[in-house]
Amino acid sequence: MISRRSILKRLSTMPLLGGLVGTATPLSTLASTAVAPRNLAKELGIRTFINAAGTYTAMTGSLMPEEVLETIQAASKEFMMLDEVQTKVGEKIAAVTHAESAVVTAGCFSAMTLGLAGVLTGMDQKKVEALPHLEGTGMKSEVIIQKGHNVGYSHALTNTGCKMVFVETVEDVEKAISEKTALMWFLNIQSDKGKIMHQEWVNLAKKHNIPTMIDIAADVPPVENLWKFNDMGFDLVCVSGGKAMRGPQSAGILMGKKNLIDAARLSMPPRGSTIGRGMKVNKEEVLGMYVALDRFVKQDQQKEWQMWEDRVTHISDTVKKVAGVKTETFRPELGNHTPTLRITWEPAKVNLTVKALQENLRNSDPSIEIVGEQNGISLTTWMLKPGQEKIVASRLKEELSKAAV
Ligand SMILES: *Cc1c(COP(=O)(O)O)cnc(C)c1O
Repeated sequence: MISRRSILKRLSTMPLLGGLVGTATPLSTLASTAVAPRNLAKELGIRTFINAAGTYTAMTGSLMPEEVLETIQAASKEFMMLDEVQTKVGEKIAAVTHAESAVVTAGCFSAMTLGLAGVLTGMDQKKVEALPHLEGTGMKSEVIIQKGHNVGYSHALTNTGCKMVFVETVEDVEKAISEKTALMWFLNIQSDKGKIMHQEWVNLAKKHNIPTMIDIAADVPPVENLWKFNDMGFDLVCVSGGKAMRGPQSAGILMGKKNLIDAARLSMPPRGSTIGRGMKVNKEEVLGMYVALDRFVKQDQQKEWQMWEDRVTHISDTVKKVAGVKTETFRPELGNHTPTLRITWEPAKVNLTVKALQENLRNSDPSIEIVGEQNGISLTTWMLKPGQEKIVASRLKEELSKAAV
């Protein structure tokens, strides 16, 4: 690395800058403006890209707004007690989300593991240290889940040592419930893939005195989802912080009943000898998450939506000029609720595979990521920086036109 001193020396020997030193500009100002901040992406050869795909974990989720970054910066300059940060932030988040209590976790996935841990252990320290071993501890060991909700994320629950019990109908649930049942889990984004809907699930559980948890990881907007399921009676609600809310990617929120959040926190850092010790969230992320949530709740939702729509319209109008290209706009109802553009083309008029289009966009400058589908591509505009929709539109048009037969 070039030292500050050698930069100063070099600057003073350069004719133009050397001349400037003699003027009123103090040397220190000159040096600090002359030295560009390190560009780690460039230095390490990491590809950056325009994200027209969406809030994908592999693509680092979302970009944090200035307020969040400033919060992280400022928080990093002082020591604080981690538990106190969590308690104070938790009270604020709980008030916004109509929950009794809340805690910032290392993403939605860890919210689920920790929430279930709390259900299993209560405030019993021995049980906390026993996890994930349940046998002979007196802890319950089963989670009831609808077959249609069984996507990979339920692994967060088996991490506690619990087994999944699959059901389809209300009768199945009644039969499945036993003294081993710890939790009834619901996955919002898959709710149309199960026979039992939210309120019925909650009512069934309440009838048998079993706690409920819902995963709404990617399901804001609408912003109301942040309190809807607390209001509905779910005991625990888990959401990602680094998707549409644009908090730190490694943050999420566990909210719900106070006794369960208190119990979940026994499995969280700073406490060791727990299954959650590796799910640390630092004070910067906890505070950053709070500011991101606050900003998200206060922002003009309609204006945001209109901006995403306008961008989609611009891209759609541009690519439709290529003969044989069709577009369709849809808004996924349950999660990733944002205007989404699907682009397809007639192979007889545009001779281009989905994979080739994806790679051409990815491998040019600026690199662009879109979503490849079976018969075309889809894209969203909510993760774009202002103006990037123009680049996405013209690059798509260019690639599609080039392949015109
Ligand atoms: C993204 C996601 C998760 C994991 O959330 P993290 O915040 O990345 O831990 C869990 N469930 C669903 C449905 C998701 O989409």
